[in-house]
Amino acid sequence: MTEYPAELIHDLLDGSISSDDLQAIQRAPKDAGRQEMVIGLEQQRVAFDDPILVCLQEALFIVRRDDGERVVRCRCGHDFGDHRRNWKHAAAVIEREGETPFFPGPRAADPDWMVLREFYCPSCATRLDVEVVPIGYPFIMNFEPALSETAE
Ligand SMILES: [Zn+2]
Repeated sequence: MTEYPAELIHDLLDGSISSDDLQAIQRAPKDAGRQEMVIGLEQQRVAFDDPILVCLQEALFIVRRDDGERVVRCRCGHDFGDHRRNWKHAAAVIEREGETPFFPGPRAADPDWMVLREFYCPSCATRLDVEVVPIGYPFIMNFEPALSETAE
C-alpha cells in the first residue's frame, strides 16, 4: 500500500496537483490514514478552530462547536445547522428553469421538465453544489454520515 506524503494530498485538496500524480492517487487503494490526513490538512485551511469531524464535500464540513452541537459548516465559518438536516435548506439557491439544455448532447436533461439548482453559501458566496432534478423535486440530501452519539 502506498502512503502519499501530506504535501501531495495538500496539492490534491487545493487543485494544484499534477495530472500524473492525480491519476496515480485515483488508481491506488486509499492509504489507511488518508481520512485523518485530509481532516488535518483541511483543519489548517479553514477559518475556524472547532474540530472537523467529517469532510462532507468540497468546502463543507461537519464540525463540533464549543456547545457540543455538530453542525454543517462552510470553509468560511458559516453554519448551516444540525448535521442531520439537509444543509441545502439553509443555503442561498438559484434555480435555472427552462434555460438552455443542461449538459448538451444525447444525454441532455430536458429543460422543459428539469431544473438546475445551484446552492451557495450565504456568507462567502461559494457555490457549494449543483443538482439537476425534475421541477418541484425535493432538495437531494447528498450524504448523512452515521456519527455515533459519543463521537468526538
Ligand atoms: Zn461560506
